[in-house]
Amino acid sequence: MLPPMNTTNPVASRSRGLFAGQAPGLAPLFFTELWERFSYYGMRALLTLFMVAPIAGGGMGLATADAARIYGNYTMAVYMLAIPGGFIADRLLGAKRAVLAGGWTIALGHYALAVPSIESFYIGLALIAVGTGLFKPNISALVGALYAPGDTRRDAGFSIFYMGINIGGFIAPLVTGFLAQSVWFKALLADNGFDPAKSWHWGFAAAGVGMTIAMLTFARTSAALPDTDHGYDRNGSGDASAFWRQSAYVIAGTVALLALAVASDHPDLTWLRWLFLVLPLAGIVYAARQSSEDAQRLAAIGILFIASMIFWAIFEQAGTTIALFADQLTRTDIAGVPFPSAWFQSINPIFVILLAPLFAALWMRLGARQPSSAVKFAIGLLFLSASFILMVPAATLAASGKVSPLWLIGLFALQTTGELLLSPVGLSTMTKLAPARMTGLVLGLWFLATAFGNKLAGVLAGGFSSTEPAALAHAFLTQAVLVAIAAGLLFAAAPWFKRLSGGNH
Ligand code: GLN
Repeated sequence: MLPPMNTTNPVASRSRGLFAGQAPGLAPLFFTELWERFSYYGMRALLTLFMVAPIAGGGMGLATADAARIYGNYTMAVYMLAIPGGFIADRLLGAKRAVLAGGWTIALGHYALAVPSIESFYIGLALIAVGTGLFKPNISALVGALYAPGDTRRDAGFSIFYMGINIGGFIAPLVTGFLAQSVWFKALLADNGFDPAKSWHWGFAAAGVGMTIAMLTFARTSAALPDTDHGYDRNGSGDASAFWRQSAYVIAGTVALLALAVASDHPDLTWLRWLFLVLPLAGIVYAARQSSEDAQRLAAIGILFIASMIFWAIFEQAGTTIALFADQLTRTDIAGVPFPSAWFQSINPIFVILLAPLFAALWMRLGARQPSSAVKFAIGLLFLSASFILMVPAATLAASGKVSPLWLIGLFALQTTGELLLSPVGLSTMTKLAPARMTGLVLGLWFLATAFGNKLAGVLAGGFSSTEPAALAHAFLTQAVLVAIAAGLLFAAAPWFKRLSGGNH
């Protein structure tokens, strides 16, 4: 039995302001995830810079291509390991213990990066990837567990949760970047007898401190939260041997997917990337033809999976194509005062922080009259398409000199609106549609779409050349048209999606 939520309970006492009218457990999960994302994005902001920095400057002295490969495979692995992470929670640990184990593993990983050695660098990356696989799907599953089926506050709750993610994501690079790169902090280190070239590791340590705060927040409040349904001994036909057999499939499947994605970088094997689309399509057709309700729901999840993968493949070019456009083709000064092009990366989290409460309020107000998630996704894809349409004149104008930063601000405003229609809604819908004792695994699948999308974003950016604005304008237009077609197909499929999801749309 869960203890009743009352005003002396630390969980309930926070349910004001932003959290008014929401499930009482939302606030502690919001703050736990805020600090976990602080650690993730704080470390990620330094990762590439640290790898390519010369050894004399305290870095690893890697070539850009090698650093980009490590970065791409690391971020993909982080999201792919959500599949075994979600599965282990469903069948063995439950989401609460998975978050606990995963969170401390992540903290250890960041502290390993704080130690300046090659071995501890790779150990640290591996620990963060494994830990995030356990943590990320299951913290979202815990948010889902706050709402009974049919509770219309669910999408609003996830919008608020998503705001926490982005507060962490916004603040973190400012803090870790300051520790790792600022002249001021390096001087402070030197004055106190520390090696200023090792400032990177102070940045990584700050990420570890953030993750520690996340876990302390969670430890203090988690007793009052409902856990997810789990346990192999309660799954009807289940016994220990079935659990081990299923675990072997899940782990072998994840390793195979990782290997496939890494192998697809080979020039002769790029066709393997089509499997990202063909495999889920085949899965949808297969599942939709089964008569069981669970299979039908998995088919509905598959439809959102494909839409989400397309979304992230375009959106995540913020770190590739758009980062290069910002750096090479955009004026980076305000009234004559120059600013680093990396600042453009903060615009998206700021827009999320500003817009997420509006979406939360919209979903609360619409209540039971909300459109289905397939329709929200389709509108999200239209906003994404519009963002790339906007870049067509921007790229064309870039032929005659650097363009105004307003183009990119417009791009991020449109993309973030699309993101809020898709990403928090997707998390929410996965927790609604997941068959019993499969919430973790289904959220793992959701993050697999992110993993593939990130990989494709790297591929799509491969042809970027700042000296050929016409080709760039053409690339933006082609991708925008393809996304608009995907949105149209999704609108058309929405009634089918509703039928498959059996009222949980
Ligand atoms: N920015 C969000 C987060 O870190 C979304 C990640 C994703 O699913 N692509 O949680």
